[in-house]
Amino acid sequence: MNFQDPAVRRPSGAAVAARVAGTLLVLVGLALVITAGVDFFATVSSGPDVDSHGPTKFWMLFVGLPLIAVGGWLLIAGFIGAASRLAYRRGLPMMRGTMAAMGVRPLGTGCATCGTANAPGARFCATCGSALARPCPSCAAVNASTAAYCSQCGGALT
Ligand SMILES: [Zn+2]
Ligand SMILES: [Zn+2]
Repeated sequence: MNFQDPAVRRPSGAAVAARVAGTLLVLVGLALVITAGVDFFATVSSGPDVDSHGPTKFWMLFVGLPLIAVGGWLLIAGFIGAASRLAYRRGLPMMRGTMAAMGVRPLGTGCATCGTANAPGARFCATCGSALARPCPSCAAVNASTAAYCSQCGGALT
């Protein structure tokens, strides 16, 4: 086992572990169920003269089915987990953009230029230096960088 499969190289550990474990459980469960089924039908089809050989592997069905259920759950969890994280990653900047477009950007925190979350009350972005807030020249109140007039005294922010 010394070959490198590029498809195996995946960064997200927990989801991959869940998928691998889920696949293994489903495969083992399927093998047990199939073995039990084959044994059962072989016993049934061979007629009543083989009483010595009953469906001895029937217990595998009751082990295999829960294994498939658990494995399937792990697979779903692994794939949905990855999908929801992907949606979260994609959805968050979209939500931020929507919020910014609606004017609900928290004052002095999110940078409109680079997206860095700066400390509350910050006037300039710590990453790119963009103005996050406009201090009023009249009363020194801190206004949003997009504000044209001071929210405290109504003075023009030039
Ligand atoms: Zn910035
Ligand atoms: Zn002012």
